[in-house]
Amino acid sequence: MEVPVRKHIVMVPFMAQGHLIPFLELAHKILHHNPTFNITIVNSPLNINYLRSTIANDPSLPAHIHLKSLPFISSDHGLPPNTENTNGLSFTQILKLFHASTALEAPVRAFISDVVANEGSPPVCIISDIFTSWANEVARSFRTVNYTFATSGAYGTAAFFSISINQPHRNIADGGILNEFPVPGFPESCRFSTTQLHPYFVAADGKDEWSTFLLPQLSHSLNSNGWLCNTIEEMETMGCEALRNFIKLPLWCIGPLLPSNMLKKTSGLDTGSSIISQRSGKLPAIEPKKCIEWIDSHPQGSVLYISFGSQNTISDTQMMELANGLEESKKPFIWVIRPPIGFEHLNGGFRPEWLPSGFEDRVKSQGLVVHGWAPQLEILCHRSTGAFLSHCGWNSVMESLSQGVPMIGWPLGAEQGFNAKMLVEEMGVCVVLTNGVESTIGKEEVKKVIEVVLDKNEDGKGNDMRRKATELRKLIQASVDGSSNKAMDDFISTILSN
Ligand code: UDP
Repeated sequence: MEVPVRKHIVMVPFMAQGHLIPFLELAHKILHHNPTFNITIVNSPLNINYLRSTIANDPSLPAHIHLKSLPFISSDHGLPPNTENTNGLSFTQILKLFHASTALEAPVRAFISDVVANEGSPPVCIISDIFTSWANEVARSFRTVNYTFATSGAYGTAAFFSISINQPHRNIADGGILNEFPVPGFPESCRFSTTQLHPYFVAADGKDEWSTFLLPQLSHSLNSNGWLCNTIEEMETMGCEALRNFIKLPLWCIGPLLPSNMLKKTSGLDTGSSIISQRSGKLPAIEPKKCIEWIDSHPQGSVLYISFGSQNTISDTQMMELANGLEESKKPFIWVIRPPIGFEHLNGGFRPEWLPSGFEDRVKSQGLVVHGWAPQLEILCHRSTGAFLSHCGWNSVMESLSQGVPMIGWPLGAEQGFNAKMLVEEMGVCVVLTNGVESTIGKEEVKKVIEVVLDKNEDGKGNDMRRKATELRKLIQASVDGSSNKAMDDFISTILSN
């Protein structure tokens, strides 16, 4: 009997950890719903090696996920050989990554030709990232379809798109920058502010290097056959509406893309270490077990966790004030710390002068300073974690909300300012401490915001935020067998009917 050829899906993520991991989890989820596909994730050798390292110890990896390393010729763009590195991204590095991602187009074409030659037909679809939307033309030239996968939330993605394309922050009369402005696609009453914009939005004029790459990618993605988004329909009603208004294409909200043991109905983890191997190839600077032992010794909801994601850091003066405020708050904390902005290349070479003199010794009994990388999922899943001071990267947001942990926002780039705005205004689970790496903050503001969020007073803001975060946690859990499940089924039926 002839064995039917498996239907092939090819995925083309952008070259950054915050994109690679959700693509891998999307592949898992598709196969969980329908195990008859073959899925190949293609990328540059360094990024494929990174993905391999994340799954090296993962026995749950389905046999039909393949990782394909493509020849990558970065010199085409005059880029140094390490351009594909996914760590510590400065603005210039992001621009380089943008260019590097387009260097994948020819190898992706060659790979699809091989698929056609070997399997007799093209893949059933190519799923690309917003920043690898050139894959839309590749798909069309092979007479197959293309879907865009937004690894961020709907609200942040819609705002990022609409502001990049429409530039609503520019005053038409004189080209100056408005302090407050409506954003096409969002309700008129939902005003955005310049402080929520990363400086590259403000600097972009449509002709600069950033816009020259970004705008064509955004318009390719609007020509795709539909969008997937790493969110939950009921959690982001306004965001989903704004995104639909903007893309005018089918949108499937298939999140949360989180390890399944984070989504169980009770708090706490029983298989903590396996979560890490599923989500990150980086080794924590502290053994997860030690970290958990330390948190175990603290009361429920009392610990503040601080991390700025996989790539970002803050300035040396901000770091100093954050340390001072933390110490004065006397609250227990875990702080994932890296060299400040301008010194990111030192990779772990931390200098004591970036912290107040004697800080690490003095706070030994108050907190854990983790240099480099922490077991974030274990920390957020622990019942003693009471709040998360975060840059509001989308993976961090979903990880935090899935555990009912309220946030203190300090957005640093990309769509993070919009995520923070939504967390504050639409969800009521966040207070923003400050924005970006150039802002001035004082230790008093740090101390005050920590006290507000960790406050246990029945009628206090902290309690209100925790209650709302707990409601969102339940909503996220319910979506797994509810709306997200249905969206994934619909998406798969659509692919199969093409
Ligand atoms: N992360 C971690 N340990 C750290 C810092 C980050 O495990 O010390 C993980 C975190 O759990 C999340 C990812 O790195 O899954 C960061 O993704 P996010 O979208 O929040 O931010 P990005 O790194 O893309 O800016």
